[in-house]
Amino acid sequence: MTSFREFAEACKVIEDTPGSLEMTSQVAELLDRVSIEELPIVTHFVMGEVFPAWSSEDIGVGAGILYSALAKSSGFSVDEIEDIVKETGDIGKTAVRALGKNSNGQATFSSFLTELDELSVTEVFQRFQSISKASGKGSQTAKIKNLQYLFNSASPEEVSYIARLAVEDMRIGVGEGIVRDAIAAAFYVPVEVVERGFMLTNDLGLVATTAKQGGVEAVSGLDMQLNRPIRMMLAQVAPTLEAAISDIGTPAIEWKFDGARVQIHKDGDNVKLYSRRLEDISNSLPDIVASIKKYVHADSAILDGEAVAIDENGHPRAFQDILKRFRRKYDIQLTAKEIPLTLNIFDIMYLNGENLLDEPLIRRRELLESCVENADSIRVDSQVVTDDPEMINEIYSKALKAGHEGIMIKNPESPYSPGKRGKNWLKKKPVMETLDLVVIGAEWGYGRRTSYIGSYALACHDPETGRFLPVGKVATGFSDEQLAELTALFSDLIIMEAGKKIEVKPEIIFEIAFEEIQKSTNYESGYALRFPRLVNVRDDKSLEDVESIGRIEEMYRMQRERS
Ligand code: ATP
Repeated sequence: MTSFREFAEACKVIEDTPGSLEMTSQVAELLDRVSIEELPIVTHFVMGEVFPAWSSEDIGVGAGILYSALAKSSGFSVDEIEDIVKETGDIGKTAVRALGKNSNGQATFSSFLTELDELSVTEVFQRFQSISKASGKGSQTAKIKNLQYLFNSASPEEVSYIARLAVEDMRIGVGEGIVRDAIAAAFYVPVEVVERGFMLTNDLGLVATTAKQGGVEAVSGLDMQLNRPIRMMLAQVAPTLEAAISDIGTPAIEWKFDGARVQIHKDGDNVKLYSRRLEDISNSLPDIVASIKKYVHADSAILDGEAVAIDENGHPRAFQDILKRFRRKYDIQLTAKEIPLTLNIFDIMYLNGENLLDEPLIRRRELLESCVENADSIRVDSQVVTDDPEMINEIYSKALKAGHEGIMIKNPESPYSPGKRGKNWLKKKPVMETLDLVVIGAEWGYGRRTSYIGSYALACHDPETGRFLPVGKVATGFSDEQLAELTALFSDLIIMEAGKKIEVKPEIIFEIAFEEIQKSTNYESGYALRFPRLVNVRDDKSLEDVESIGRIEEMYRMQRERS
């Protein structure tokens, strides 16, 4: 049995380790040390995850619940906890400080804990599960009570990480990349094999246990499964049409629909839909579920497509309208009437028990066409295989005229590569460079905007350390309606507040347009954006989609070469 104290000590060592290679070996050592039952829990915990991203379980603890639990456990008031947060700037340190002494100056940590009383990693996980399961009336109290139990059973070394885990923000610099490498190192499985297993199952906990139990052979045997989303294949920008044709040969051309990505799993009459972030959105889209049942003639299938909201003129509506549908939890039928969707299916990865990932696109396409019956709500649009630039440009113009984004130029011989942004899918669209950046902080507005969050701090990603590096702030591009919506959305994600400044859990991604990237000493990334403006809130994207620091450096270089 691994105690949570041992886990916390390992986290402290990792947190204090500067280089990513050294960190990887520390994580590998930790993964190797724990039991097979504890391995999936520790694998997720070390990345600051309680449940795999795609799981329907969500811990659902925000600053409000956490502060109340800390207040109740320590005897301080919530206001006093907030003051400590402002002083320490870290929720883990706040927990240690608050629980170190209660309001009467007495130590609240139980100094009489025996070995037997120690919290185990599994017990902490089970408490988090109870917290996640609490719903409806009284759920706040139940969540607080469970957290209180954890805080009062833990030592100072532990409370810091319990608090950070509760808000899923570990801050020890371990991301998916490091865990992937650590699994490879701990269990002697090549990194590419671990990566493939991860892309197919989306669960590093499962990959780790498989590696520990069955080594390279077992991990190679990991396969996709119905009702568990796989990572989506992604596209690169086509440098020029000519280069694309010379790279691919004779490409397959499709419209690049202006909508939001959906992965469909049909298992008999059970249909599940997953968003680009691999969240289960089936309940919000009963119309699409019904269409799949009616028009997809297959016992089981995994399909890939783009949901588009069409206006009365047949043009795609704003991206936000589609996301309204994806997020809807009530009045679902009404919203479905207001914002009807058409699902354009463009790929198939699995059919009636057969894994099609390694089949060439051209064959997948035949199978797709043979099992989907076109209707208003769901269709397989045309695909043209041609190397005639004129014809391709014509398709491109038609797509733009119809209000879509441009075209996809695909390699007809290519497999479906989950999670890869490679040369087999190229996109051509009118150039407007945007960056997908994660919001890490914000500031309450001034004047007319005092009750709204008026500006947002943006960050890119450092894949080496798993950390988010600030690149600037955005305060323009928001409609009044959006200001209110975003204020409500971010209010649930607040980790800390000091004066007008807020720190938020990194979760929401903004697509940002800008004039230029500049070098800057103001921000940790070393770069800043000139005239940043919000284009879209990309709730369909996840943290893995956040632009890397390498990409920002590359764009900076390209910009200098152009000028
Ligand atoms: P963008 O911001 O350009 O949409 P992205 O990062 O969201 O980029 P990309 O990988 O660059 O995604 O482009 C592929 C996206 O285009 C897919 O995620 C999908 O949502 C959308 N898409 C629309 N039509 C198609 C199509 N026919 N084939 C593949 N993807 C399509």
